[in-house]
Amino acid sequence: SGSVLTLGETMGLFSGAQTGSFAHVAQTTIGIGGAESNVAVGLARLGIPVSWVGRVGDDSLGNRVVREIRGEGVDVRATLDPDVPTGLMLKEFRGRGTSRVTYYRSNSAGSRLSPADIAAGVVENASLVHLTGITPLLSESARRTCLSVVRRAHDAGVRVSLDINYRCSLAEPGVAAEAIGEVCGYADLVFGSPEEIALVSPVSQLREGTSFGTTSAEAIAGLVRSFDPDGRREVVVKRGAFGATSVNGGASVTAAGHTVDVVDTVGAGDAFVAGYLSGDVQGWTIEQKLARANACGALMCTIPGDWEASPTPAELDEFLDSGADPVQ
Ligand code: ATP
Repeated sequence: SGSVLTLGETMGLFSGAQTGSFAHVAQTTIGIGGAESNVAVGLARLGIPVSWVGRVGDDSLGNRVVREIRGEGVDVRATLDPDVPTGLMLKEFRGRGTSRVTYYRSNSAGSRLSPADIAAGVVENASLVHLTGITPLLSESARRTCLSVVRRAHDAGVRVSLDINYRCSLAEPGVAAEAIGEVCGYADLVFGSPEEIALVSPVSQLREGTSFGTTSAEAIAGLVRSFDPDGRREVVVKRGAFGATSVNGGASVTAAGHTVDVVDTVGAGDAFVAGYLSGDVQGWTIEQKLARANACGALMCTIPGDWEASPTPAELDEFLDSGADPVQ
């Protein structure tokens, strides 16, 4: 199986030790998190060789970011930025499996990622490069880094994966559509919610303010056709508890989600992507990739933490054997 390269910003993560707003919560626990490193850890747990590239501050949280990801067996290539701090996010638990994340990342070290941070050969020797739509919205240099990486991948014949992962706190929809769309133009494999697929769709009526709710698989296939009229790409639509639909060259496969007791949904999307990519680099069928991805996503909902509980193949088998039946 091939190796994966991913890059992005990973931050310190302070989570409330109790449910409630940080206006009143007394204790926090400290961890780290970032969409791409969450995916990297997920892949490492599944036995896939993976590298993560990013920038951190020359500070205690930067040290923690590098050590934690490296400790998971990910090949970490971090640039230490002496001038600015490592970014930070706060996670407040609001009960019933919901949480609110607030970012303190403007002008952070991670947002200053630059094309020169990705050494020669790092892209070219991977079998797949995974990006998210977060990175091009972080800064002008981060946007240029994404473009440089996908162009290098394109030139070297390396498969490109993009999780649109639109964060409205980083950019207005119009700005995001343009910056993410540019990177998306190079992607062979695209992940997103129906709303995110619409955001980067060339069909402008779909872009803003469209809500897809519990959209049917047929409606999703139609949405994907307007996003990718030539059927050139593999488009994976994440549908929360409903599972996911993957459309490739006109063929559409839907896999139902699992019924689970939800504790914390943050990180489900990243675990899903890690599961899907682990199958992709091993040449699995779409059905096999979706099955693993749904199991990874569902399992992550049952355990707090953004990436810590990323499953191993043995844990996935145990989860599936425990009667976690697909919803029908
Ligand atoms: P994130 O909150 O991590 O950004 P996302 O919005 O990218 O998530 P979702 O569609 O919410 O992605 O979830 C990704 C996948 O995780 C789903 O396709 C599904 O497989 C699984 N999943 C998410 N929520 C649930 C749930 N409540 N029950 C079962 N499976 C779920």
